[in-house]
Amino acid sequence: MTILELALPTPLRRLFDYLPPDGLTPEHLAALKPGQRIRVPFGKREALGILVKVKTESDVPTGQLKAALAVLDGETAAVSPEIHALCRWAADYYHHPLGEVFTASLPRHLRLGKPRQPGAIKAWRLTPRGLGLPPGALPRSPRQAQALAALQKEDAVSTDHLQAAGISAAVLRSLADKGLAERCQLAPARYTPVCHPGLELNPDQAAAMKGILSPGGGFACHLLEGVTGSGKTEVYLQLIADCLALGQQALVLVPEIGLGPQTLARFRARFDAEIVVLHSALAEGQRYRDWEAAAAGRAHIVIGTRSAVFTPLARPGLIVVDEEHDGSYKQQDGFRYSARDVAVKRAQLAACPVVLGSATPSLESLHNAIEGRYHHHRLPRRAGSAELPRINALDVRHQPLQASLSEALATRVEQTLDQGQQVLLFLNRRGFAPSLQCHDCGWLAECAACDARLTVHLRQRRLRCHHCEASRPLPSTCPECHGRQLLTSGVGTEQAETHLRQRFSGWPVYRVDSDSMRGRDAMETLAEEINRGEPCILLGTQMLTKGHHFPAVTLVAVLDADALLFSADFRGEERMAQLLTQVAGRAGRADLPGEVILQTHHPDHPALQAMLHQNYAEQARQLLAQRRQLGLPPCGQMVMLRTDAADGEAGEAFLQTLRRDFEAAPVPQCTLVGPLPSPLPRRQGRYRSQLLLLAQGRPAARAAAARLVALAEALPRKGGLNWSIDIDPTEG
Ligand code: ADP
Ligand code: ZN
Ligand code: ZN
Repeated sequence: MTILELALPTPLRRLFDYLPPDGLTPEHLAALKPGQRIRVPFGKREALGILVKVKTESDVPTGQLKAALAVLDGETAAVSPEIHALCRWAADYYHHPLGEVFTASLPRHLRLGKPRQPGAIKAWRLTPRGLGLPPGALPRSPRQAQALAALQKEDAVSTDHLQAAGISAAVLRSLADKGLAERCQLAPARYTPVCHPGLELNPDQAAAMKGILSPGGGFACHLLEGVTGSGKTEVYLQLIADCLALGQQALVLVPEIGLGPQTLARFRARFDAEIVVLHSALAEGQRYRDWEAAAAGRAHIVIGTRSAVFTPLARPGLIVVDEEHDGSYKQQDGFRYSARDVAVKRAQLAACPVVLGSATPSLESLHNAIEGRYHHHRLPRRAGSAELPRINALDVRHQPLQASLSEALATRVEQTLDQGQQVLLFLNRRGFAPSLQCHDCGWLAECAACDARLTVHLRQRRLRCHHCEASRPLPSTCPECHGRQLLTSGVGTEQAETHLRQRFSGWPVYRVDSDSMRGRDAMETLAEEINRGEPCILLGTQMLTKGHHFPAVTLVAVLDADALLFSADFRGEERMAQLLTQVAGRAGRADLPGEVILQTHHPDHPALQAMLHQNYAEQARQLLAQRRQLGLPPCGQMVMLRTDAADGEAGEAFLQTLRRDFEAAPVPQCTLVGPLPSPLPRRQGRYRSQLLLLAQGRPAARAAAARLVALAEALPRKGGLNWSIDIDPTEG
């Protein structure tokens, strides 16, 4: 009796048994492989499942089992063995339904059940053992000797070619039985990559390189902590060169909007190789072809954002996670995973090294390095001779501010421009102003669906909610009292831009935020313009802190450092230190040292003082000590259960019951906090609550999360309630 155990894309955390499709021959049955896509009847519809395993018994009586409809994949399953193992681990670790994890790992083309188009040719190649044989080996079997000789001439030879040369499949199989040859796939355009020579490494870089390429190879996780401009990318490039030289593939993860064209250009200049870049703006067909190229081993280097961590590789040799601290590696809805953490697991499964690089490593990675789980390499100096910029606070109390700019700062901006240099102004708030109020009656412009104020976008003449899609025309009078005095408060980039253009009319002002930088090439074009080096003002949100270097910028100012100082999230200080260090790192080069000015009303705030007097590495270690004392991540583990419901009470009631059930048999080393309203208690018309679990130690967190999930699944859900679990959450 053959039974197929399948994972289906449903929210149910279980697998489903089916009988094989009718009419499958014994050979077909023998060829079934985990990872194949199988179409099945599911309720009144059809679904596409992934084969988890073939077994002989089911808990369901055979008579009740339905037959699958079709097996969609041939010899190469859509989910490769490596990705299969990775998805199973992820489903287990994140307590997410396996079917949805598989689905998330596949390109849309395959998710929709379309046939594989691998564009590959079946071929044979020698195994390492076969490669060790001298020419003229196997003299007692002339046919095998002939096959061996043919395979010795090339890396791999297509089966067609071999057959044309009179070498039969049976002969090749006997070589395979001896462990001398193996099947492989040959891509039409497969070629050997060429690496152009890199820079001569400085001693820090050389030491990091040597540490990462430790003899014996295999899995190891390396944290590469190097200040901005210290030459991390150069180290990645040289590691990749070594990886390609061994005939292996490299996977490079980058943050969203993090892959600057300058970086990509460096990759292309260094390697004469097939480089595929997987990002969300890619057309579906292209994305699928690139995925196949990676799976077949044609693509030598795969660069991509978060979900690229699930790209199958025929010969994985190295994984790099650049800017590993970046928030975009965490998926915040649906299948909530951290691509950085999945990357580490993946490297372990593939037995290859993984390098986590950052100027501002996450406390998680630092913790792992300090505890000895990760190797730690430091690049404390900028490559070449550029100095890191100085950081100063500018006390703006009692100072008149115009569009958030104090007179003292405006003067420094002017001097810098006069000297022919560039200025970068950081303001992490887009739009004209974050709120609008009636001066007569006090009416506030608020989103009808969220507990949030609407942002004024003056140029579009609209009010927009930054938490949902809601937007409406900017009123000219108060909708409550028809008063005409509508006042904005606070300053966004749009307002600052207008002011800067008036005040510094002789110089170009470039605004960089998600409103002004639409389209993939906008940022690229702008970066090129700016790096011509003419004096100008760059004004923008955190979009400015990613991916691009602006060597001609010598003055960086944070217009509202206070906005970063006060955060309800326990990660607030870590994020501030990362953000400011990253902004500061954009500036200055060898002959033009930079300066960073933080405008603040709280010059004595300890977090601000820390920014002035300590570098990131020192701050991070201090923050880590605090976390240890409080038992907070990464020194303790966190799990978050969230609900959202149309009804205001349903979520809290659900979580309250969950808490009571959990505490009926508590898991040791675990504390529950809540239920509490979420930081944004209502969003898109849905009320949100959360229950937080703090655990001391991974095993406790795992056990508690498993119990929470089991209990939550058993609870009735009222009022259209949804719940989700988030392991290692990064948002409150
Ligand atoms: P990071 O990735 O740490 O920001 P990069 O690798 O981009 O640093 O290096 C910063 C700058 O220093 C680049 O212009 C790079 O070409 C240069 N650079 C890096 N390594 C060296 C080296 N060993 N010798 C000379 N210049 C280097
Ligand atoms: Zn009014
Ligand atoms: Zn809204």
